[in-house]
Amino acid sequence: MRDKLRKRYQVQKEVTRNGCFEGEIPLAEARRLAELLHGGESDSTDGQIAIRFEFLRNEYDIPTIKGRLETSLELECQRCLRAMEWPLKLDFKLMIDASDDIVGHSDEDTIYSHDGYIDIMELIEDELLLAIPLVATHEDRACNKNWQLADKKSETPARENPFAVLQQLKTTD
Ligand SMILES: [Zn+2]
Repeated sequence: MRDKLRKRYQVQKEVTRNGCFEGEIPLAEARRLAELLHGGESDSTDGQIAIRFEFLRNEYDIPTIKGRLETSLELECQRCLRAMEWPLKLDFKLMIDASDDIVGHSDEDTIYSHDGYIDIMELIEDELLLAIPLVATHEDRACNKNWQLADKKSETPARENPFAVLQQLKTTD
C-alpha cells in the first residue's frame, strides 16, 4: 500500500516504517527546470511527473530513498529551435546523509537532509536537471534545412591542402 505524496518527509520515521509513496506532481512546480523547457515558462509545463519511491536501509545500513520517476519534457531542439518531446523514465537510488567515507565505498550517491527532512521536489529537480541533455536535437537531422546547408559549407574549408606541408618545407630549407 502506497501513501499519497507529501512535500517533505521525515527520514528516520519513513525509513523505520518503510514508507512507500506514489503520485503525480505538476511539472509547473519544477521551477528550476522551467527555463530549460521550450518556450520558457509558458504552457510547456502542462505535464505531470509520475513518481513512486520508498524509504529503506541499504547494505551499509544507511537510510536510502529508491524510486522511479516518469515524465515527458518539452525541450527546445537546438537545430531548429522548435519544441521537441522528450519522454523520460528514470530510476534512482540515493543514500541520505551518508558520510564521505561511505560514499567513497559505494556506487550510490547521497543527498543531504535539512534537519532530518527531505524535500521530494528538490530531489526530482536535481535528478531531472542531471538527466536532460546539454544540447537537445530532434533525431531527424533534417529538421532544419538551413542547418544542413551550413553543415556542408563548413566541411569544405576544413579539408587541408596536402601540399601545404611541402610548401612549408620548401621555405624553411
Ligand atoms: Zn529540430
